[in-house]
Amino acid sequence: MQRKSKWSPGPGVRILGVALTDDDRWVVSAAGSTIGICPDCGRRSRSRHGCSNRSLQDLPVQGKSVTVKLLLSRWRCANRKCERRTFTDRLPSVAVPYARRTTRVVEIVGLLGHSAGGRPGERLMQRLGMPVSDDTILRQLKRDAAGAQRNSEIRVVGIDDWSWRRATSYGTIMVDLERRSVIDILDDRSVDSAAKWLRVILRSRPSAATAAACMRRPSVKAHRRPSRSPIGFI
Ligand SMILES: [Zn+2]
Repeated sequence: MQRKSKWSPGPGVRILGVALTDDDRWVVSAAGSTIGICPDCGRRSRSRHGCSNRSLQDLPVQGKSVTVKLLLSRWRCANRKCERRTFTDRLPSVAVPYARRTTRVVEIVGLLGHSAGGRPGERLMQRLGMPVSDDTILRQLKRDAAGAQRNSEIRVVGIDDWSWRRATSYGTIMVDLERRSVIDILDDRSVDSAAKWLRVILRSRPSAATAAACMRRPSVKAHRRPSRSPIGFI
């Protein structure tokens, strides 16, 4: 066992020890802060109510996968005027609640999934020491897509094949070309599925009448690039 702060996945995480397991994986024992700060009233607390364990996949080291075993405390809020009685350590820059991977791994999953596809992305991640399944890659892409869709109105859509399994199984990836973000992944690559998806997007616009008008007008165009990648202007 050795202590190295460089192993910390982010601020607020104290490294207790690092060990290499028999199956050649690094396991990092870590704990949250020694003091809690109530998220509602901001008062500091040293009164520990309990603790919980989280297991997070982190970036690889020396080509070997890394798992962070993180001990988090539940604290009591001593402020009588505060409605919150207990609260748990929050590490928003390390991982979102209930996530099984650190935020920096999640970002890589999204990037590789976007560029390589499901199975190829799975193989690449395995090779890089961050094993994830193709299902996980797809879920991450859909989460990213949902976030992008919530935040903005889509005006220009890029449509392309997305490889579930190279040369054998393809879906369709829908990309917001203005914001360079994935909007959705469709199960197949049929024209009907893409058209149905576009109709749903148009219906979600503030004015259904506007959407209907757009569908009839030539201003809504979808054409196929010579390289087979169509772009839809909505
Ligand atoms: Zn409080």
